[in-house]
Amino acid sequence: MLNLINIIMLILMFVFNLNSNLHEVSVGFSLQGSKLELTLDPVFVCYVDSLDWLNQLAGESILGFALGDIVVVKKQCKNNPFVLQHELNHVKQYQALGDYFQIAGLLGLNLEGYPYYPNGDIRKINATMWKPPDWWPFHWHLIDLEFQIAQ
Ligand SMILES: [Zn+2]
Repeated sequence: MLNLINIIMLILMFVFNLNSNLHEVSVGFSLQGSKLELTLDPVFVCYVDSLDWLNQLAGESILGFALGDIVVVKKQCKNNPFVLQHELNHVKQYQALGDYFQIAGLLGLNLEGYPYYPNGDIRKINATMWKPPDWWPFHWHLIDLEFQIAQ
């Protein structure tokens, strides 16, 4: 589901010329027996003038958001690396949790960096956000291809 939403968002971002920038690309390879898996996560960052519609929806001032491999940040925060870092932390969370991202928040994972979120020091927010440990089995990728290799 998240893949479909991400692909639709990417198409809309390009159609409406929102100047999304390719921020980073993660590529993964896995060979298990005769199954080869290739994964690709191009992370796009888009700066927008306004997120008023989201502010109204959320009932608070939103500086940016992430959804899967897509990050959207208000232009006024372009020179604040901690806002981008916060949203990139969410990208790592999405890559670790996939479609379970929202449920994980409800189950108690500190996805936003409480108690500092939303009005505290953003560096403390970023430091307290849940991040997947190195051993975490990342399972969501924007592009995930499997091939059978003839043996
Ligand atoms: Zn956040």
